[in-house]
Amino acid sequence: MSYYVTTPIYYVNGEPHLGHVYTTVAADVLARHMRQRGEEVFFLTGTDEHGEPVAQAAEREGVTPRELADRHAARFKEVAARVGATNDFFIRTSDPEHEAVVAEIATRLKRNGHVYEGTYEGWYCPRCADFKTDAELVNENECPIHQITLEREKEDNWFFRLSAFQEPLEQLYAERPGWVLPANRYNEALSFIQGGLNDLSLSRARLRWGVPVPWDPEQVVYVWIDALLNYLSALSYARDGEDLTAGFWPPTVHLIAKDILKFHAVIWPAMLMAAELELPERLFIHGYLLMDDHKMSKSLGNVLDPFRVMDLYGTDALRYYLLREVAFGQDGSISPEGFENRYTTELANEYGNLASRTLAMVARYRDGVVPEADPPAELVDEFEGLVETVCQRLDRVEVSGALDDIWTRVRCLNRFVQDHEPWKLAKDPERAGELDQVLFGAVEGLRVVSVLLHPYLPSTADRLLAALGAEDLSLDGARLGAVGGGARIGELGQLFPKVEAPEPSPA
Ligand SMILES: [Zn+2]
Repeated sequence: MSYYVTTPIYYVNGEPHLGHVYTTVAADVLARHMRQRGEEVFFLTGTDEHGEPVAQAAEREGVTPRELADRHAARFKEVAARVGATNDFFIRTSDPEHEAVVAEIATRLKRNGHVYEGTYEGWYCPRCADFKTDAELVNENECPIHQITLEREKEDNWFFRLSAFQEPLEQLYAERPGWVLPANRYNEALSFIQGGLNDLSLSRARLRWGVPVPWDPEQVVYVWIDALLNYLSALSYARDGEDLTAGFWPPTVHLIAKDILKFHAVIWPAMLMAAELELPERLFIHGYLLMDDHKMSKSLGNVLDPFRVMDLYGTDALRYYLLREVAFGQDGSISPEGFENRYTTELANEYGNLASRTLAMVARYRDGVVPEADPPAELVDEFEGLVETVCQRLDRVEVSGALDDIWTRVRCLNRFVQDHEPWKLAKDPERAGELDQVLFGAVEGLRVVSVLLHPYLPSTADRLLAALGAEDLSLDGARLGAVGGGARIGELGQLFPKVEAPEPSPA
């Protein structure tokens, strides 16, 4: 089976921020999990580089758009690496191979009779690189996203006959109710379609920084058509001398934020239908993380800057918090105080302590060797069906829901150790068998949750599994008792050390 997951390509004309980190981390969790399942995975992220805003910014700086894009793309690439993303490729829409695919698909749309010449007039937001309908405007003529005053613009363009796809799109939505998740976004996209579709300008006349329209090089392909095609073009040149399209198309899931729903849920499937290409299996739309800046923390101040969090607490802690605090798919608040709470109570006290305590007891009571025993029945019950549940949830992109299921078991293991008091059992030689079983159960439970947590906390889980002498990450092994006793426990150190508030830097 193949699994193809994408993030949106990030527009280079800005700083990488929490929103980019959020989507990339979620996509990475899915990619890592699917690899653990033995799937062939292709995980794509990258940068969107064409369009007026980049050309304007380059002009202001006195550099070429390509030079500006090079500089900015490098930063987004760094951020992907920094958050631990295991993307298989990083696409840039200024790659010549991508541009060739855009030209090819545009030509195909025209050949298939879906393109015509016309005049467009509308409210144009240069920062969205998109025209706005009257209904979308706020304060008479402002962009609803950028709150800048828009001008009425008019030009001769090539048009994509989007209106012709209203019925096919309605049919798609009727046949595949799970194709856009969560359901409220499905409803939103469907009602947009049902409201009637206007044809879409496929080209722009005044712009130079883009892919020339193959049959009319005075125009460039509209930046959104160019951008959406990254999902297709990447497969054709991500690996030297190999075309991955047959193996990975169509995408399994596109992860996006709600501001680009219309492009992905309406325009993209229509374009693919027009080009006679298979549609993605699913779109998943995540919500916004809203900063609650009243909840300060000593180490982080009043804004949760993802880069500062990673500097002070490590990448895993950030990954965990983002997917734990707000249910993936919904809007929700995050805060520095909330981060510190989760770090201390969950990562350090619940998971970190469970690990250090379990390893210490094996070292002290069994000379550092995991005893042989049967898994305790109560833990077997608690862990029954866990792998299946996690897999089902991640199939539905319930990234936070799966984490919640795993964390319930972390807590249950803490309770298990607390209830059985191995430190008391150790004092009574008659109860050595019982102690063996409790220690074995705790180690096995810890191993299983760590395998399942690996996509969320990759370096932590790797360290812990190495210390347990059981480094296999495959989900087949994520069952209690899949690994027997006999392993020698290694050194672990503190997984989630206490972080002191740094000295304020001199102003
Ligand atoms: Zn705008």
